[in-house]
Amino acid sequence: MRVAIQGTHGAFSEAAARRRWPDLDVVPCREVRDVVEAVHAGRADAGCLPVENSLIGSVTTTYDILHEAFGDGTLRLTHEVLLPVHHTIMALPGSDLSQIRRVLSHPVALGQCRVWLGEHLPGVELVSAWDTAGSAEIVAREANPALAAIAARHAADAHGLVPLDEHVEDDPSNQTRFLCFTTAATAERETVAGPCKTSLIVSLDHRPGALAHSLQALGARGVNVTALQSRPEPSAPWTYRFYFDIEGATHEPRVAEALEEIEAMSAKFIVLGSYQAWTQGVPSFQVTHPTPAHHARKPEIPLMDRRRKPEGTVVQIRHLSIGGAEPVLIAGPCSVESREMILDTADLVAAAGGDMLRGGAFKPRTSPYDFQGLGVKGLRYLAEARERTGLPVVTEVLSWEEVPLVAKFADMLQIGARNMQNFTLLRAAARSGLAVLLKRGAGATVEEWLMAAEYVLAEGNPNVVMCERGIRTFERATRHTLDLNAVTLVLERSHLPVIVDPSHAAGVRSLVTPLAMASLAAGAAGLIVEMHPDPANAMSDGAQSQDPAMFRDLAARVHPARPARGAPTRVA
Ligand code: PEP
Ligand code: MN
Repeated sequence: MRVAIQGTHGAFSEAAARRRWPDLDVVPCREVRDVVEAVHAGRADAGCLPVENSLIGSVTTTYDILHEAFGDGTLRLTHEVLLPVHHTIMALPGSDLSQIRRVLSHPVALGQCRVWLGEHLPGVELVSAWDTAGSAEIVAREANPALAAIAARHAADAHGLVPLDEHVEDDPSNQTRFLCFTTAATAERETVAGPCKTSLIVSLDHRPGALAHSLQALGARGVNVTALQSRPEPSAPWTYRFYFDIEGATHEPRVAEALEEIEAMSAKFIVLGSYQAWTQGVPSFQVTHPTPAHHARKPEIPLMDRRRKPEGTVVQIRHLSIGGAEPVLIAGPCSVESREMILDTADLVAAAGGDMLRGGAFKPRTSPYDFQGLGVKGLRYLAEARERTGLPVVTEVLSWEEVPLVAKFADMLQIGARNMQNFTLLRAAARSGLAVLLKRGAGATVEEWLMAAEYVLAEGNPNVVMCERGIRTFERATRHTLDLNAVTLVLERSHLPVIVDPSHAAGVRSLVTPLAMASLAAGAAGLIVEMHPDPANAMSDGAQSQDPAMFRDLAARVHPARPARGAPTRVA
């Protein structure tokens, strides 16, 4: 195997390439451009170039040559290599640090030893050389005791020099990432085993959101981005091209779909290759991307079907089981209105014997002029309420883009009635790994509701709780009509637990407790009810919100054996 590197024998690029091909023959090259040329011309079978150092960042010459040389599709990345980099300062035998006036090395290596040089050799002249090993060679040739080189330890032995100090790099974890490449024709014949990465270069359309959309195309499909760099476009000042490194290979459906979307947003799009990732000592690598459901075979029996699990699914949320022996009581305000208000309400829920806290931070309101929720602040207050009371938290997520944000604070993601068939949202919520509370759409049939649950299950998330919250009928005396048929029917058809939201079904608080008890009689695994410390002044859904006394009464009926914990302390 002949491998072209920038630099000469003993350079760090050679050590990197040897981690991949122990028996290689080095083809030394003066510049990165010559490395590419050597592979193109067949003088080398592969090339190996440093792309990034953990101390000083990008090796920009490599980034630029990747753009220049890979655009026509004739070259392909095949491997990455991570190499721990330790530097030694070396000089002629007999010389010592006090004699040194000039230090030679590759500029990247000088940059990695800046602190040591400042402390031990302040004021000496630093001279850039083509490579580290080559600078050791120069020091030996010049035979000048005032010269030193910074290079790998073995370069001292190779050139008859002696180390003046070792490990002179600014951080002992110093390492460099190298990329190996070959011709596309050769790469075609190689099989890539193990976890892959893919690198690409894109020049995005110059419009708001183009970069965000590219990242979201990856994020929405669970594709991890491991590096993102930008380089200026030389012919168009103040415009940039972006270099993405992502986990996964182009043949994986998830990756292929995301790249198709990014390409559609790009003026220029170059895939540098899918290649074997270096996983040694890299703890965060996500090894596999599950296949999206629409690329998988349709199961003979739907995943939600009770025949698959006659005993029923129990969804575990922290210490709480939904679908187990005891009904669960989830309660809280329609919207989180302020920190004090949600902490007070959480105290009331906990003291009355409630099991879990609800509260909307992102609210789906019929009118755009109505209170839309406190957003991120609301999420933070909910998390604080959980810390204070120990109650797990469920809150609604309105759009797929906000799933990671809401998932960071919630224990269960609520998909609201208005979004029951927002399939992109269902997929994203499923991939969060959190349990999903799937409310039934006000105009959705039981079949449609079950298929919405199937979306979440098919994405690999088994933790779905169904929630009947009333459907729209001709009856206008109540907000919606609670469909208890559906509760029993879904329990027959599916193994998923079903809970009931009598508050949104009724729209008036006086009906909530009777409907709640009827729901439990119909087989519901629990309830989610709206409760507000001061319903008359609630910012949303006050008419259907129970006051604390009504809620205490409901809680005592749901959990008759559980003594209430007494009056809570007020929030400071
Ligand atoms: C809510 O729970 O506050 C809510 C908006 O519910 P639904 O989606 O059932 O209307
Ligand atoms: Mn509400």
